[in-house]
Amino acid sequence: MPVLADRQSQLLIDGKLVAGGSGVFETVNPATEEVLGVAADADAEDMGNAIEAARRAFDDTDWSTNTALRVRCLRQLRDALRENVEELRELTIAEVGAPRMLTAGAQLEGPIDDLAFSADTAENYEWTTDLGHATPQGIPTNRKIAREAVGVVGAITPWNFPHQINLAKVGPALAAGNTLILKPAPDTPWAAAAVGQIIAEQTDFPAGVINIVTSNDHSVGALLSKDPRVDMVSFTGSTNTGRAVMTDAALTLKKVFLELGGKSAFLVLDDADLAGACSMAAFTVAMHAGQGCAITTRLVVPRARYDEAVEAAAATLGGIKPGDPNSKRTVCGPLISARQRDRVQSYLDLALQEGGRFACGGGRPADLDTGFFIEPTVIAGLDNNARVSREEIFGPVLTVIAHDGDDDAVRIANDSPYGLSGTVFSGDDARAQAVAARMRVGTVNVNGGIWYSADAPFGGYKQSGVGREMGLAGFEEYTEIKCVATLAN
Ligand code: NAD
Repeated sequence: MPVLADRQSQLLIDGKLVAGGSGVFETVNPATEEVLGVAADADAEDMGNAIEAARRAFDDTDWSTNTALRVRCLRQLRDALRENVEELRELTIAEVGAPRMLTAGAQLEGPIDDLAFSADTAENYEWTTDLGHATPQGIPTNRKIAREAVGVVGAITPWNFPHQINLAKVGPALAAGNTLILKPAPDTPWAAAAVGQIIAEQTDFPAGVINIVTSNDHSVGALLSKDPRVDMVSFTGSTNTGRAVMTDAALTLKKVFLELGGKSAFLVLDDADLAGACSMAAFTVAMHAGQGCAITTRLVVPRARYDEAVEAAAATLGGIKPGDPNSKRTVCGPLISARQRDRVQSYLDLALQEGGRFACGGGRPADLDTGFFIEPTVIAGLDNNARVSREEIFGPVLTVIAHDGDDDAVRIANDSPYGLSGTVFSGDDARAQAVAARMRVGTVNVNGGIWYSADAPFGGYKQSGVGREMGLAGFEEYTEIKCVATLAN
């Protein structure tokens, strides 16, 4: 792979690396505000060509039924990405602003390794199950249930964890026998285009099976939701855009899979180690500058110990200085863009207007005049009705809210349009699990357990999404179910 400075970023369409019909657009280092270089800017015709290629590869080749080929290509991709991991790491730190330490996990190496889970699942999957003999309406019949690929999948992704989200769609969708067009976020085109280059140059994926189309124009990606040749759209991003995708997809009634926003709650029960729990909640909010959909951004603590909780959270968050993502010690890097930084700042301004106060942070760091940085911030003095308690901020911002016992804590957690994730801390596992069972969310961390794993399903209730990514459930999202009934003799 070429070094960062010489990068030629192209589209991957029908097995070939090609230029974009709209020329190129710039990609920017969010820590330095420097232009890193340019990416291919696809137009509607490029997207049409990619959809046509994926359609042909699905309809006219044996990709969807040749499990051995799919498993081999996916393992080959994992190996090729691993061989290029150091180049990809530098690219990810530079383009995403991802702290170096996170590239050992969910920002890079984790999702590369997780491709093995998709390959293994396809290899060991029971594609056909026997429902047995029966006599429906008096007619003797043998029934079989087959799982088959859905067809052509359009995958649309955001910028916050580009490799994780891109590969968590590419892996299971291809493993299940679909062909795919990936349309990454305009903020992080290189992360996807580098994978496209590796696929084109170092793997045996047949032409058209995977297409990667970078574009600065959101409407080019929206074609995936609208085009009748696309059978399914798999989207991760904001809830508002998810709504637009679902509306567009309704025109052709295609299958829609959505991973959207969150406003998850971290519940501290009155028998928990308060300082330890609050410190952990604060630390997670600072990671990657809070740009994670499942981060618990509402810290819900016993009312009697509210001030103590605010102090503990502020002691941790106030001690985390945002800085250079290249440094091995940095936890909190920049936000992705000036637009996102300004959006987070507008929520901090709103917190004051709503009557809140900052226990630490509250704006741009005084010592960093370049880069899209925001200080890790604790907002205190507001309840769950404040807009900063209800709306997704997507920055290193924690709002501390008081509860009056377990029932009230559950009520606050569930009093949200979102339902993505949650955490419960208690001195008693059984009590914490009873609370977890009442939370209307897709994943729960009880006393520090980790739900993020290739074999565990991830996704949201309510306006946080439709369907599950990863795990067996994530693989099966990309399948149709066919019942074949044969007249028995
Ligand atoms: P976004 O919704 O603005 O953009 C996401 C993607 O959608 C981008 O590729 C964008 O080009 C594309 N897009 C924009 N308008 C479109 C349209 N009308 N039709 C089709 N595609 C369109 O989100 P973002 O700002 O890139 O990412 C941040 C958001 O993503 C946050 O709200 C965050 O919570 C959410 N997110 C959710 C998850 C999850 O798994 N639940 C994971 C990461 C991020």
